[in-house]
Amino acid sequence: MSGIGFVGEPIIVDSGNVEYSKDEIISRYEYREARVVGNRVTPLNENLIFKTQRHVPKTGVLLVGWGGNNGTTLTAGILANKLKTTWMTKEGEHHSNFLGSICRSVTMRVGIDHNLQPVYAPLFNVIPILDPVDLEIWGWDISSMNIADAMNRAKVLDYDLQRKLYPELKDMVPWPSVYSEDFIAANQCDRADNIIRGNKQEQLDTLRQNIRDFKQQRGIEKVIVLWTANTERYAEIRAGLNDTADNLLGSIEANEAEIAPSTLFAVASILEGCTYINGSPQNTFIPGVIELAERHQILIAGDDFKTGQTKIKTVLSDFLINSGLKLCSIVSYNHLGNNDGKNLSAPKTFRSKEISKSGVIDDVICANRLIYGENEHPDHCVVIKYVPYVGDSKRAMDEYTSEIFMGGRNTIVLHNTCEDSLLAAPIIMDLILLAELCTRIQIKRVEDEEFSRMHPILSILSFLLKSPQVPEGSPVVHSLFNQRYSITNFIRALVGLPPETFMLLEHKIP
Ligand code: NAD
Repeated sequence: MSGIGFVGEPIIVDSGNVEYSKDEIISRYEYREARVVGNRVTPLNENLIFKTQRHVPKTGVLLVGWGGNNGTTLTAGILANKLKTTWMTKEGEHHSNFLGSICRSVTMRVGIDHNLQPVYAPLFNVIPILDPVDLEIWGWDISSMNIADAMNRAKVLDYDLQRKLYPELKDMVPWPSVYSEDFIAANQCDRADNIIRGNKQEQLDTLRQNIRDFKQQRGIEKVIVLWTANTERYAEIRAGLNDTADNLLGSIEANEAEIAPSTLFAVASILEGCTYINGSPQNTFIPGVIELAERHQILIAGDDFKTGQTKIKTVLSDFLINSGLKLCSIVSYNHLGNNDGKNLSAPKTFRSKEISKSGVIDDVICANRLIYGENEHPDHCVVIKYVPYVGDSKRAMDEYTSEIFMGGRNTIVLHNTCEDSLLAAPIIMDLILLAELCTRIQIKRVEDEEFSRMHPILSILSFLLKSPQVPEGSPVVHSLFNQRYSITNFIRALVGLPPETFMLLEHKIP
């Protein structure tokens, strides 16, 4: 399209507020907010300094649930991009791509050119972001199947692509994992043939050793651990059991049954200094885990990848309510036939998913007291059914009913069919790449002596997560575009650019 510019190489910001050294980008940034007391609103400015390490370290990711649909699709997809694999389907030749990734397939506006036209750049040309093809990937699974056969079992990728990647993946065999049949559906037991024996402390020690070996044997500088294993039931939170970091560590030592496998992975990861990401809905981040992460200043992010239906829900509810329409009912049906669907067919694991999917419109509702009363909320019903025949090709059917002008009703019905794991894999990749970037960022107020790392709870990744974890007291933002611009505006701040305002005043002043 004419007029719109594109920067295809790393940008350099020319400003007295930004310094590029060999190792770092230092940006002095004025953060603007407004304090409200009663009806008095006072603009506030806070002077911050961001410091971003430019060197992207050799990074490895350890996937928990590596042999599942997401784990194999991500591994095969990144490998195919690395090898520039092409494959045939009845439509012709296909080329590997990273569609669905904001780090690799999205651009952000960086400014205007001399004709006042917008100029865009990929995120990785604004700030250094790891190239996914350089990621080292390994992981754990309770199923011992190698990643090539597991990719075939998943039935996600085209046959010819599977055939081409098979030899590259066949020697990748997941490490044994921690299995507790109490935490996932009983129907998963037939694939659990790859299990770490011993008590919880011994299991934790094994996981920690695995992480250390991975790092050492491959010369990896930074490891990120990501849970993409089956959804667990919620763990009970109890005083003395897991309410503090010390109680949690004590409970692991005492081999308490209520410590979930995912909690052991989070603890192992934190104790080994690795960022931990939870891609499923369960409450891995019990208070003891959060305190442990804060104590060790380790970044954590979760919960539950935001892929299809929820993404649309956070767009549509924003669109309807911020158009002044009163959204009164959302009914969402899913049916899917992959192993995730099989696991979610048990009431206790479905409940974790239901909780995760239910809160996603709270922020838009609470922000509008003109159309919703204090405790008023739309009806919101979530149904998930397991239908083996449709495999990974998940169906999502949604109905949104709103009250409109002068007693009218507006009903929108959507039917979405999509390979679940092909939506999830690029999101998992973005979580890894952006979490890695966050580990290279330090921040301070101008008057502070020392820089500190980002807050351990990475709310900046909310765009990619259904039920975002945020620091205590921080509002949870669900609206998709607010989440997206919080990422790109944050990246702009790292290089001393003002936030995107969309005002286009240069075209409005005569
Ligand atoms: P999957 O069932 O294909 O894969 C999960 C894998 O985890 C399996 O290989 C299983 O053997 C393994 N596993 C189970 N318990 C384990 C443990 N304790 N340790 C190690 N491995 C274990 O499921 P999937 O489709 O890959 O989805 C993975 C997770 O991601 C699910 O919890 C799902 O709810 C969540 N999720 C998926 C999407 C999506 O769009 N695909 C979206 C949001 C969340």
